[in-house]
Amino acid sequence: MYKRHVTIPIFVPEMACPFRCIYCDQHLISGAKSIPAKEDVVKTIEKYLSTITVSESEIEVGFFGGSFTGIPIKQQLEYLTEVKPFIDKGIVQSIRISTRPDYISESNLHLLKTNNVKTIELGAQSLDNEVLKISKRGHTVEDVENASRLIKSFGFDLGLQMMIGLPGDNPTKSIATAKKIAELKADNTRIYPTIVIKGTYLEELYNHGEYKALSLEECISTLKLLIPVFDDAQVKILRVGLHPSKDLQLGAYIAGPFHPSLRELVETEIWKDKFEVIIHKADSQSNLIVSVSKKQFNFAIGFKSKNKKQLEDHFKSVKFIIDNNLLNKDFYVHLD
Ligand code: SF4
Repeated sequence: MYKRHVTIPIFVPEMACPFRCIYCDQHLISGAKSIPAKEDVVKTIEKYLSTITVSESEIEVGFFGGSFTGIPIKQQLEYLTEVKPFIDKGIVQSIRISTRPDYISESNLHLLKTNNVKTIELGAQSLDNEVLKISKRGHTVEDVENASRLIKSFGFDLGLQMMIGLPGDNPTKSIATAKKIAELKADNTRIYPTIVIKGTYLEELYNHGEYKALSLEECISTLKLLIPVFDDAQVKILRVGLHPSKDLQLGAYIAGPFHPSLRELVETEIWKDKFEVIIHKADSQSNLIVSVSKKQFNFAIGFKSKNKKQLEDHFKSVKFIIDNNLLNKDFYVHLD
């Protein structure tokens, strides 16, 4: 039976960050303000479980937000131990953690491996040393490469997050970062455009005219180039853009390409380019049927049906259907 994948998020904000990356106010970004007590882990899991049909779900618990492997070992173990009873009962299947690339060691990986962690996500952000330095990330490209190889050698699933639009970044560097993430054999990625958040050093730079945020259009045009790199390398894209947390909506947002449906906007544009060819080649008096995979169905139709409407302007009628044999962005059309 197909099971819906559910991640129960537990935010561990900034517990172990010795640095302050210039764009980060993790409290505001995640919406979480206090460090969870170990009892809160169980409460959060139970709260989420009450909203899920467990038998129809593949459930993982995700410790997000800060630098999980930077917190004291005792505390890491306490958090992981709280999840164990749910795993033993078969309710939760696995754990995912996020951390910094320079906080990966063999001994810590051993601890995670023996405590049901399946996936480790690293905030790589950029694989360009100049961008990392200006952003005060406090680690190098080499740290990301070494940590990634070690994580893979332990058999974990590897997630590598990246950002676009950081100071010193440009589309060429972003594409190079995406290609390197694929080369490092990441299983998944998240792409976050840089947003200027209130109270960060980036806000100061922005206010002094020393940092120019990407426009939404610039952001979309870079993302349009990155997504095919990951699609071709079969790196699963888990997220594009920040979640709209309450604080971001309540005035923490200063500038940058924030949009709650950013992924849809980009995928719409990628599909729009594909459909241009049909519009130019096909007879406009035809009825058009477009077959796409289930996953791409909504993306192909487009954000607010943009692509469908554009095709309807050209063809007599337009219909999208799902073909379960199609993979990724493969599609075919039928005209009569
Ligand atoms: S490592 Fe992550 S949580 Fe820590 S300051 Fe940087 S972006 Fe924020």
